Amino acid sequence: MNDAETGAASGLPEELDPLHITREQFNRARAHLEGFKRGLIEFFEVPKRTISVCFPVEMEDGSVRTFHGYRVLHSRVLGPGKGGIRYHPELTRREVAALAALMTWKCAIVKVPFGGAKGGVVCDPKDLTETDLRRITRRFITELGDNIGPHIDIPAPDLYTNEQTMAWIYDTYDILHAGGNNRPVVTGKPLDLGGSVGRREATGYGAFLVTERFLELAPPPGFGGLKGARVAIQGYGQVGVAAAEAFRAAGAKIIALGDSQGAILEEEGLDLEAVAAQKREHGTLVGLPESRTLTNEDLLALDCDILIPAALGNQIHSDNAGAVQAKLIVEAANAPVTPAADDILSARGITVLPDILVNAGGVTVSYFEWVQNIENEEWDLEEVNRRLRQRLRRGVDAVVECWQEIKGGATLPLDNHQEPAAESGAAETPRVERRPDLRTAALVVAVRRVARATLKRGIWP
Ligand code: GLU
Repeated sequence: MNDAETGAASGLPEELDPLHITREQFNRARAHLEGFKRGLIEFFEVPKRTISVCFPVEMEDGSVRTFHGYRVLHSRVLGPGKGGIRYHPELTRREVAALAALMTWKCAIVKVPFGGAKGGVVCDPKDLTETDLRRITRRFITELGDNIGPHIDIPAPDLYTNEQTMAWIYDTYDILHAGGNNRPVVTGKPLDLGGSVGRREATGYGAFLVTERFLELAPPPGFGGLKGARVAIQGYGQVGVAAAEAFRAAGAKIIALGDSQGAILEEEGLDLEAVAAQKREHGTLVGLPESRTLTNEDLLALDCDILIPAALGNQIHSDNAGAVQAKLIVEAANAPVTPAADDILSARGITVLPDILVNAGGVTVSYFEWVQNIENEEWDLEEVNRRLRQRLRRGVDAVVECWQEIKGGATLPLDNHQEPAAESGAAETPRVERRPDLRTAALVVAVRRVARATLKRGIWP
């Protein structure tokens, strides 16, 4: 890894720096990746290509603003790059690079034939008009040029981008490449432009399918099942909404939901239709009649069975992991739990279902959209969801099988995070063991698949 990628140059504390986190997670998996050619595994730590662009946009108010955008391709071993484009004021190249690597592992776990990529523009969509967003999108896609394409690298929605953004991406690319079927250049499009039914709900619904399968195979001790389970969800975007509906349909009670303004609690279970109406009318969940108002920090510490972070990264970290009371954390967001928090949660007997498995439903249905676009076909929702369920369940099976395998092996000494010892009142005990968790198992499954494919292809020349 070169210095620009490894140095903690993000201005964030080391623990919260995105590349530091993915490197730490990768290091934990490395111990279980013996048997490959020396040096091969190191190659997967670095992105294959990083594109950084700056461009001016004439804003609707008449001013001109300069924007910074990135597209990072982490791997092309299993197929063209695949991953979302996010718009966020705090976006950094390091974060995009870290998220691109997660996409590689996600695709490998559900066996969709894509490599990993991610992109984004540093901007705050809340301060921008629709016209501004359209101009930013068109100019960004033009700057990326032939670095995206139906068989090169295929964007999708992510934080604060949506079907409309994808429509502009398709239109821009199609204008620049007239004469071919360009629909597969981007996924998450509106249905009218070749989007797939089920794509909008796929990530949230997929989080439910993964949890359901995991609970069939390895329920955490004392976990009573989904019927009546008390679920708290942080995030009320596309993912949080679909997850809430899927868990409720299975008989769970959604006791709390949060958005960027705060969170709401109703011990008997929220009425999701009333919640949706509240959001539509007031732009926030906060203030829903008969609910209690909480902070997002309180939501993470609620006494519940399942906690679903479905918003931003780094939400559960060393300072608040000790307060989590859920039995199971389902990472619908990308990277919501830091490695230090993983250690604390694991020492407290709290199971974390990792992002690269839990939220792989999104890219899975993106793949279905891509296939439908190439074949000029349209599948119905039943077909999409049947295939989604099958792929996700196989992904869970592979991860749980690997988890059993590596749990049987040696434990690793905890190195830099001693919180679990302090928590259990054993601060004076010098050596604490780290048992391999599900995140490590998921990474091992994914890296083994990519490593095998790399060796079968042969390293050029
Ligand atoms: N942005 C989503 C993710 O992080 C979806 C990516 C895709 O569909 O390509 O998984």
